[in-house]
Amino acid sequence: MAGADNMMRRVLARLESSAMQRAIDAEMQRQLRRDAAARDRAEAEARREASRKANRPRCGARTRSGSPCRAPAVWDKSRGAPVNGRCRMHGGLSTGPKSSAGRARALRNLVQYRAAVS
Ligand SMILES: [Zn+2]
Repeated sequence: MAGADNMMRRVLARLESSAMQRAIDAEMQRQLRRDAAARDRAEAEARREASRKANRPRCGARTRSGSPCRAPAVWDKSRGAPVNGRCRMHGGLSTGPKSSAGRARALRNLVQYRAAVS
């Protein structure tokens, strides 16, 4: 009877391991589906972001060829609005004061502003 018992144990062990394997396979499938869904969401978000930039107002500055500039206006993310309606090449961004006198003036204004705000 010991031989029959041993065989039963082996059969049970094999059944158990195949059930475990099926559970592992199912979990892997679920994980793959979750990953694919996350990828799809990231792609959709990237498309929305691109369309937002594409929908920004155009710069419109007169170019050397005479046609209006078609670049998107520089965006103020904190306000969700264009900074001044121009693109980065046509006055969209200031690079700040260059001369030491200009820098000193900017610093004075900063001190004055902070004193007024606090
Ligand atoms: Zn421009």
